[in-house]
Amino acid sequence: MDYEAHFQAAIENVKAEGRYRVFADLERFCGEFPVARWHGPNGTKNVTVWCSNDYLGMGQHPAVVNAMQEALHSYGSGSGGTRNISGTHHLHVRLERSLAELHRKDAALIFSSGYLANETALSTLANLMPNCSVFSDECNHASMIQGIRHSKAHKHIFRHNDLLHLESLLRAAEPGQPKIIAFESVHSMDGDISPIREICALARKYGAMTYLDETHAVGLYGTHGGGVAERDGLLDDVTIIEGGLGKAYGVVGGFITGSKYIIDAVRSFGPGFIFTTSLPPVIAAGALASVEYLKHSSSERDEHQARAQRVKDSLIEIGIPIMHTPTHIVPVVVGDSALCKRVTDLLLNKHNIYIQPINFPTVPAGTERMRITPTPMHSEAMIYELGDALNSVWDELELKRVSRALVREDIAQMEARAAA
Ligand code: PLP
Repeated sequence: MDYEAHFQAAIENVKAEGRYRVFADLERFCGEFPVARWHGPNGTKNVTVWCSNDYLGMGQHPAVVNAMQEALHSYGSGSGGTRNISGTHHLHVRLERSLAELHRKDAALIFSSGYLANETALSTLANLMPNCSVFSDECNHASMIQGIRHSKAHKHIFRHNDLLHLESLLRAAEPGQPKIIAFESVHSMDGDISPIREICALARKYGAMTYLDETHAVGLYGTHGGGVAERDGLLDDVTIIEGGLGKAYGVVGGFITGSKYIIDAVRSFGPGFIFTTSLPPVIAAGALASVEYLKHSSSERDEHQARAQRVKDSLIEIGIPIMHTPTHIVPVVVGDSALCKRVTDLLLNKHNIYIQPINFPTVPAGTERMRITPTPMHSEAMIYELGDALNSVWDELELKRVSRALVREDIAQMEARAAA
């Protein structure tokens, strides 16, 4: 086989479909976020980043940066081993205690990433239960899909947030069979929120465990940042909560929280937890500082929601077709990968605004989009500039707009449905 030609053809294919990934080469300077220096083909310039998952700017918060600096000087760089073989640092233990407390669970377990947390926890738990069935939302993140795939469980996919479909699948399963329902609270790409209360009620009715990914909600929702489950008083209803340390908490890593024996089972049997060097103490120190800070401060969360609403209002005003979400995520569907790239290239090259185009397979083909993520650091002037830039790009490419009245009507209907 001509290996080079084979892989080149694979890449050419992706390029022809307009979904070849081009990374923006950025330097984020402490204290300047969301402005960053972009290293482009013609040199460098400052751009405003509108698509970061550092939702609250905790990646540059003094509480986090100072904790990491101190830990680096006190403890050095790496952890020196796997958790089992000399690599459990006291900061790991403290971080796990703090996360368990956040979700009012017995225990927690941290991983090198949220991806690894989902992949390991779901595959390990499902494998430990013979004849297990996993019921997975069709829009679940790739890490959950891989975890389920790597287990020997039977997989049942339910339509996104569709309770009737989920119940029909649960009803069809053997009554005594072990079951896990896996879903996200805030969906990362659509920005909608799942019916956690109702899914937990179905889980009780059919004897299932629930596995809730709160990656895009921890730190951001709930009085202490415990996610949507905390906000809605459902912490005790969910069996396992998964979260990320690299999004709102601004560092890196992932975790699960749950009961003593469930967490011990993943700790004892999960390859993605056992056979890897543990997180450096400096990371654990930053994550711990961030989690603890956001447990006690809500002003960032409040400002975050206010900024997101301002962005939505300003884009609705000029007819940009945003998806209506009850969260901080503001998707603008363009619906074609090549066109989406043209929009974001124009924003970057002409208007100094960086928004990464999101293509298949991250989102379904035909729903290619920009995923705008306002933060408390995006000023009124930046929101104005974003609207101005999108206005100009929409004119230049003659893209479709939606009327304000229609949008307001849509939102009213969505809110009425949510209230019903
Ligand atoms: N779960 C969801 C819903 C995500 O969107 C992501 C990543 O974006 C992950 C899990 C993985 O998290 P991490 O980036 O920490 O690996």
